[in-house]
Amino acid sequence: PYIGPSSDEILAKRREYLSPSIMHLYKTPVNVVDGKMQYLFDDKGRRYLDAFGGIATVCCGHCHPDVVAAIVEQTKRLQHSTVLYLNHSIADFAEALASKLPGNLKVAFFTNSGTEANELAILIAKMYTGCHDVISLRNSYHGNATGTMAATAQSIWKFNVVQSGVHHAINPDPYRGIFGSEEEKYARDVQDIINFGTSGNVAAFVAEAIQGVGGIVEMAPGYLPLAYDMVRKAGGLCIADEVQAGFARVGSHFWGFETHGVVPDIVTVAKGIGNGIPLGAVVTTPEIAKALTQRNYFNTFGGNPVCTAAGLAVLRVIEKENLQENALLVGSYLKQRLNSLQDKYDLIGDVRGKGLMLGVEFVTDRELKTPAKDETLHLLDQLKELGVLVGKGGYYGNVFRITPALCFTKEDADFLVDAMDYSLSRI
Ligand code: PMP
Repeated sequence: PYIGPSSDEILAKRREYLSPSIMHLYKTPVNVVDGKMQYLFDDKGRRYLDAFGGIATVCCGHCHPDVVAAIVEQTKRLQHSTVLYLNHSIADFAEALASKLPGNLKVAFFTNSGTEANELAILIAKMYTGCHDVISLRNSYHGNATGTMAATAQSIWKFNVVQSGVHHAINPDPYRGIFGSEEEKYARDVQDIINFGTSGNVAAFVAEAIQGVGGIVEMAPGYLPLAYDMVRKAGGLCIADEVQAGFARVGSHFWGFETHGVVPDIVTVAKGIGNGIPLGAVVTTPEIAKALTQRNYFNTFGGNPVCTAAGLAVLRVIEKENLQENALLVGSYLKQRLNSLQDKYDLIGDVRGKGLMLGVEFVTDRELKTPAKDETLHLLDQLKELGVLVGKGGYYGNVFRITPALCFTKEDADFLVDAMDYSLSRI
C-alpha cells in the first residue's frame, strides 16, 4: 500500500514550490503512484485504463519489464554524457533507428525532448540551406523554445515574444478547414507563402503527419506530397515531426509520414520512444548532417547511455510483441466502435485518426460545428470516475485524444467505448 503524501499535500506543495503555470487534468487530479502496461494505479490502489499515456510517455506500456531491465542494467554500469567518450549504447540505438527509416535517413543527433529535436532540425535546415524562412501549419505544435514556439501555431501555446521567420500555412484539415478535403487548394497557400512572403527560397517546411496537440487532425489526402514538392523547389528541407505519430502508432506504417507517401529530409522523434525516459532524436541524411560541422554542437545528455539503452529496448519490444500490428488491429476496431457511437450521439461531430492515435470531437451543433467545450470537460471527468483516462486537445479544447500504449487490447477498447457510451447517455 501507498504511504506517501496525499493528493492535498502534493497540491499544497505544488502551489507553494512549483511554477503557477503548471497544469493538471481534472478538477480533482489523480495521484498516480504505480503503472503497469496500459494501466495506472492511484494512491488508493484504484486502477485506471490509461488511454492517453502512449503519447505522454509510453510506447510499450508503463514500466514494461524489458525496458525497465535495460534502464536498470545500464544505470548500474554507467551513466554519463556520451559526447566526449565512446560507449556502445548510443551507437547501437542510432544503428537500430536508422534501420527503421527509409532512404538515406540514417544519421542521428540525440536530444532530451521533442522541443530540442525540432529546434535542432530547424537549425540544421537553416545552416544547410543558408535560408531563414520556415513554413509550418496552423494548429500545429512543435515545442516551446524560441524556434519551435514560432513554428507552433496555436495562440494558446505562444507567448508574446519575438518569433520571427515562420509562416503558418492554412491547415489542410478535412473537418474544419476552409477547403474541406481539397488538397490542391491548401497546397496553393504554401506556394503563395513562398511567392509573396519570402525571397523565393525557404529553409524548411515542418509538419506533423497527424496533429496531436491540435486535436488529432489528419491532413487532406494528397496534400503533403504537393507541399513537399513546392518547398523543395524553393530550396527548402522537409521536416517530419514524428514526436507523436511515429514509432508504430499509426499501425499501417512505422512512421506517420509513410501514410502520406513522402520521404522527408529530416525526421524528429521524442516522447514515447524512450517509454518514459527523456529521449529525442533528429535523423537526417549524411549530407544534410554535415551542416552542423560548421561549428561545435554539444548536448550533454542527448543520447546518454541509459536513455539510448531504453530506446533500443523499446524498438526491440515493438518488434517482439508486434505492437505495430496491434496498433492497426486494435486501433481499427476502436475507431469502428467510436464511429458507431457517433451514429448514436449528435454530440460527436467527428471521429478521426489512424491506428492508436484517435480523436473524437464534440460539438453542440453538427452543422455549425460549435465546440462542446463544457461537455468535453464533463465527459473527461465522468470517464475518470469510471476508471478511464483520455486526453483533451484541439484549439477549442473539445477533442478527446485517445493515444494509449501500443499494447492496448480489444477488451480495453470495449471498456473505453462502453464507458463513453454510458457517460454520453447521461449528459
Ligand atoms: N512535437 C510534437 C508533435 C509534440 O506533440 C510535442 C509535445 N507535445 C513536441 C514536439 C515537443 O515535445 P516536448 O514536450 O518533449 O518538448
